Formats: sequence, structure tokens, C-alpha cells
Amino acid sequence: MVVPEVIIVLFNRDLRITDHPALHQACQDARQVVPLFVIDPAIPPRGRAGFLAECLEDLRRSLRERGADLMVRRGDVVEETMKVAAATGATAIYASGDVTARARKREGRFARENIGFQTFPGITIVPPAQLRPATGDHYRVFTPFYRAWSEIRWRPLVETPETISMPEVRPGDIPPPRRRPHLPGGEREVRRRLDLWLRHCLRDYADGHDDLAGDHTSRLSPYLRFGCVSPLELATRSGASEEFVRQLCWRDFYAQVTFAFPRINRDDYRPGRGEWRHDKEVEDAWREGMTGVPVVDAGMRQLIAEGWMHNRARLIVASFLTKTLRIDWRVGADHFEELLLDGDVANNYGNWQWVAGTGNDTRPYRMLSPVRQAKKFDKDGEYIRRYVPELENVPTATLHEPWRAPSPILGYPSPIWRG
Ligand code: FAD
Repeated sequence: MVVPEVIIVLFNRDLRITDHPALHQACQDARQVVPLFVIDPAIPPRGRAGFLAECLEDLRRSLRERGADLMVRRGDVVEETMKVAAATGATAIYASGDVTARARKREGRFARENIGFQTFPGITIVPPAQLRPATGDHYRVFTPFYRAWSEIRWRPLVETPETISMPEVRPGDIPPPRRRPHLPGGEREVRRRLDLWLRHCLRDYADGHDDLAGDHTSRLSPYLRFGCVSPLELATRSGASEEFVRQLCWRDFYAQVTFAFPRINRDDYRPGRGEWRHDKEVEDAWREGMTGVPVVDAGMRQLIAEGWMHNRARLIVASFLTKTLRIDWRVGADHFEELLLDGDVANNYGNWQWVAGTGNDTRPYRMLSPVRQAKKFDKDGEYIRRYVPELENVPTATLHEPWRAPSPILGYPSPIWRG
């Protein structure tokens, strides 16, 4: 076999050097490796630009410590990568395989170029095509998927390269963030957070992860979104907590759904749920956290303030929009996609469709009452008071249903809906 002189490792949603199968294999296979990231102006960075820039800076630092660099280019990913291949004499491109329609189209274009193109695992724990049910091309229901996923043997973690030899190239600039993200990005930061979380918080996860005010979840989702941490490493290290590993399995579940149904962000996965209502005023009130329903407003304002929202709040606000108000799930999902630091096609649109009853939920008609949910998961109103300051001094007895208060609450909107 001819040993390639130079291989390009094309980074995308895998911005790390630890447990990175494509990078690991390139270092085994070639004399020199070109780590490359292409900023595609056709993909709007949305609220994630600052976080992405920090992830890239961190990756660059790690690669420099190993004798290489991160090459950054701007333009169409395939065209720019092929230009880099021509300039460096690379004869192969290695990348982590991804599931979205856009990613697979890109992979198809690379496959038609006159260059060796290979994809590797790394974005999910189990690659989406690895598990197939007895009938059909993918799992439509989570529980059998979880069973099969838990029973197969996962790939071993790969070693981090100690040194990386790279040809002389002009590295290119990482655009400076216009606004600092709410969370610092990068692999170093996630490793720091992960160590703290595994040591101090994981034990409260099973009982506390639905508590809105408690902050018992890991908040690792933006780092998983950009691949600053390997989901496989996370699952292996936190293996003691079945509940947490199960959540990571949801991520793999939606990845395999998206792989099989790439139009998940536009079309109903399960059609026939009837007509949606359009009402700009109501949609704006929901987006701005001004519905007059406290737990919904708290969730929506957390999203605006932090680029993140607690999972229980996501369920409540999504159910409220789609099931209670009968507004199209695409309206809500697109807004989430715009603002979430962890916004990604499979998880975002998969979850939205699940809640709206057009997705993988086996009980598509279930509806969450925001009042009952708030009384259960924010009993003392701590979460609501944190994000809705107008309600700070409202007694807990009426906090969840301010429309029952003896007089209107100054500065807080009257509800667009009453439970
Ligand atoms: P933890 O509870 O600590 O869970 C650990 C990891 O497991 C998460 O980081 C995430 O990667 C994965 N995970 C947990 N729950 C789910 C789930 N239901 N589906 C898929 N993966 C899960 N998650 C995203 O990463 N990106 C999104 O764009 C996104 N949009 C959502 C939209 C709606 C309407 C809903 C209901 C959920 C959405 N989720 C999304 C799933 C979930 O809310 C977040 O992953 C979770 O809140 C992230 O916080 P955490 O890291 O503290 O989670």
C-alpha cells in the first residue's frame, strides 16, 4: 500500500484532539497532517459565533503544542479543502462522519472529487448506521434503541497524538468573537467543567435533573454540539450513572433518526397532525418571554440571557407553543436554533417534533400543563423569580398563576392563555 505523504483532517463538529478517530488515524497513516477548519459563510453562525471562535482558538493552541497548527480558511468547504489539498500535496481527506442533510451532501461532493475521502466515528457514541432494527432502516422508538445501543460493544477510545508533523502553510485567521459567549468555549474548558461535574454533581443527577432551579444537569450540551468533548469518553467516564448515559443515548437516537430522515428540520416526521395556527403577536410574546405564563416566560428569558435553557423548561415552552397554542413547531424550533449555544439539527428538531406530536413520541397527544409542571418542578418559584424579576415579590401561592392574584401585577403582562 502506498503511504500517503500528506492527509488533511477536516474539522467540523469535532473540535478536540482527545478521542478523535480521524485525527488519530491520519497521524498513523501519513507522514504529515494538515488540520483544517473551513468557515462557510453560507452557514450563518447565529448565536454560536463567539463560542465557535473560542473553540477554534483552543483547538489551535492544542495543535500548536503538538508542533502543528489549525489552518483556517473561509468559503465553500469542498472548494477550499480541495485548494488546500492542491497547495499541500495532500492525497486524502479524513473527517468525522455527520448526519445532517447538509453534512451528507458535503460528504457526497468530496466522494466525487479526485482524492481519497474517508469518514470516521466520533460525533456520536454509536455511529448512526451501526444499529438497525429487525424491520425498517432505523429505530423509531427510543426504548428498543436504548436496549440495542446498551448491549452492543462500543469502539475503544483512541489515543491523543503526542506530536503532529505538518507542512509549512499560512494558518489563516480565526474571526474574533463580536460578543463573548455566556459560556467559554473549547476543549480545555469542558475538561475543567467535566471534572468538577463528575466529582460534585453527578450523584444528584438521577433525582435532581428535572428540578428547574437546582442546576443539577451537566450543561455540557454546547461542548457536545461542537465536539469539544467526545460523547464516548463522557459515557465511559460517567458509566456509574445510568440516568446520565441514557440522556447521551437520546442524542444518538436523534442522530440516527436524522440520518434516516434528513428533512427533520422542515417536514413532519409523522404527518397528519392537522393544521397549525399563525399568529404573529402570540409568537412574538412567546419568543420574548412575555406570555404572562410565568414558567414559560422564565424559560424563554433564560434562553435570551444565556443561550441555553433547562431541559424541563424546553419541554414546557415547546408543549405550550405547539399543543396549547397550536403554533407550528417550526416557528419554535427555528427560534431555538437561532439562540441556543447547543442548537443542532438532530437534537433540536427531533425534540421539537417529539413534543409537537409529529415526531417519535409514542403518545403524540400528551400535553403538559405549564401550571402543573411549574408547581411540580419549581415548587418554590425560585427559577421563575430568577428570570422574571417583575414577579420577584409575588407570594408563591399565586406565583404560578398570577391571574388569580387579587390585583394585576405591575409591569407583568396579562396572560395570553389561562390554565
Ligand atoms: P444533561 O441532562 O446533563 O444531559 C447530558 C447530555 O445528554 C446533553 O448535553 C445532551 O447532549 C444529551 N441530552 C440530554 N437530553 C437530551 C434530549 N432530550 N435529546 C437529545 N440529547 C439529549 N439538546 C441539544 O443538545 N441541542 C438542541 O438544540 C436541543 N434542543 C431541544 C429542544 C427541545 C424542544 C427540547 C425539549 C430539548 C432539546 N434538547 C437539545 C435536549 C436537551 O434539552 C438538552 O440536551 C439539555 O437540556 C442540555 O443540557 P445539559 O447538557 O445540562 O443536559
